[in-house]
Amino acid sequence: MSRKRKKKEKQKNLLDKYYFEIIVALMILIGLFLLIEDFELKKFLNDIFFIILNQFKSLFENIIKFISLQLSKVRLSNSLGFIILIITFILILFRLKKRLINNSEINNCINCENEIYRTKTKKFIKFFGFVLKAKILSFKCVNCKKQIYKVKAK
Ligand SMILES: [Zn+2]
Repeated sequence: MSRKRKKKEKQKNLLDKYYFEIIVALMILIGLFLLIEDFELKKFLNDIFFIILNQFKSLFENIIKFISLQLSKVRLSNSLGFIILIITFILILFRLKKRLINNSEINNCINCENEIYRTKTKKFIKFFGFVLKAKILSFKCVNCKKQIYKVKAK
C-alpha cells in the first residue's frame, strides 16, 4: 500500500467516522439559516403589511376628508337655502299681515255685503296670529256663511 492511498483511506475513514456529526452540523446550519430566513421573511411580510396598512390608512383618511368636505359644502348650501326660505317665509308673513290688517276694516260680508257675526277662532288660526304677532278674529256671514278673518295689530 502506497502512502497516498493510505492518506485517502484515512480521509474516507474520517468521513465515515464523523458522518453523523457532519450531517447534524449541516442540519443545524440549515435550521439556523431557515430560522433567520423565516425571521427575515416575517419582518419582510410585516413591513409589507405595514406599508399596505399605511397606504390603506392614508387612502381611508383621504376618503374621509373628501366626504367631510363634501358634507360641509352640502351643509353650507343647505343652511343657506334654509335661511333664504325662512327670510322669504317671514317676508310673505309680513306682507300677508299688512294685507290682512288693511282688510280688517270690513264690517260686512265681502260676498253678499250682509252682516257678519263673531265665531270662535280655531287654534291653528290663533297660532298663525301668534306667528304674525297679530290678533286674528273669526267672523261668519249671516247669509252665505263665508268665513272672514279680521287681523288686528297687537
Ligand atoms: Zn255673505
